[in-house]
Amino acid sequence: MEQTFIMIKPDGVQRGLVGEIIARFEKKGFCLRGMKMASVDKSFAGKHYQDLSTKPFFNKLVDYIISGPVVAMVWEGKNVIATGRKIIGMTNPSDSAPGTIRGDFAIEMGRNIIHGSDSVESARKEIALWFPDGTVN
Ligand code: ATP
Ligand code: MG
Repeated sequence: MEQTFIMIKPDGVQRGLVGEIIARFEKKGFCLRGMKMASVDKSFAGKHYQDLSTKPFFNKLVDYIISGPVVAMVWEGKNVIATGRKIIGMTNPSDSAPGTIRGDFAIEMGRNIIHGSDSVESARKEIALWFPDGTVN
């Protein structure tokens, strides 16, 4: 069954949105297969966002991700990668429809609460990076 990597970013944790976000994925019918709270360093955050390392906002993005603890999760279900991104909304919260997580809870692109894998390949890489000891099955 398809799996995706979902991360509640530091602002989502600080604002007390962990339960709300988990509830949305659970109520949709997806299955939580792994979860941990983690504080990551610059090097780890850079690996997670390595595809964006040449972007002008990369350093700001890394500083954002290391600014506090995150909640890392693996969710499973049919089409969970694409559907998870629909539940999350667009990258820029201004473009995200009400009813999506970013549409309901975020304003700034640089504080957009949550990450979701964008492809089968990135889901595989991100799950291996965040859960290297095989705690997800
Ligand atoms: P994520 O990978 O975090 O789920 P995404 O896939 O919607 O988000 P990406 O293009 O992968 O968007 O960008 C990763 C993150 O980098 C975004 O969520 C956002 O926080 C930040 N970001 C993207 N584009 C910009 C930008 N132009 N200016 C500032 N920050 C940006
Ligand atoms: Mg992305």
